[in-house]
Amino acid sequence: MSTPTGLPDQVVFMRQVHGGAVAYVTAPGVRPEVDAVFTDQRGLALRVVVADCAPVLITTAGMVGAAHSGRTGTVAGVVPALVRAMAGRGADVRGMTAWIGPNACGSCYEVPPQMRADVTAAVPHAWATTRHGTPSVDIRAGIVGQLTALGVTDIQHDDRCTIESPQLWSYRRDRRSGGNYGFVWLD
Ligand SMILES: [Zn+2]
Repeated sequence: MSTPTGLPDQVVFMRQVHGGAVAYVTAPGVRPEVDAVFTDQRGLALRVVVADCAPVLITTAGMVGAAHSGRTGTVAGVVPALVRAMAGRGADVRGMTAWIGPNACGSCYEVPPQMRADVTAAVPHAWATTRHGTPSVDIRAGIVGQLTALGVTDIQHDDRCTIESPQLWSYRRDRRSGGNYGFVWLD
């Protein structure tokens, strides 16, 4: 999520829908209705846009992937779907590094009790409470649980909270659309 210095000219954009669909891409342009893409093509950047959802970037030998995983996408299993799809094209899961970028943290992301119950039925590690003691979901913890269950052990974090960090975009805080951008590519 740093400044995209040296960003390749060729970029894949996702029309994200908070789902669990993954696409293998080999050319730049817009991919409709997916929340994860991956490629083995050098010089092809994958872009993910998030506000309070988590951007997840995965690198491994000869392959990179990007996912948009908020509450709904995490329940839909978009990150596990990406890991499986990359493995299906020959990536070594144990050689993967996953990077989870800034998102709304578990101390801030208040939800109704039933929503927390519904989320954690699918993603137990996401169970959390806010700093005020009310029900919340911890998307980052949920994704870590999903990655770990698949054997991805190298998990890196930019664990800033979008709601608490004024320099990051937050829909929950600002009520305006916009986003934080994550890019990943093979040099
Ligand atoms: Zn927070």
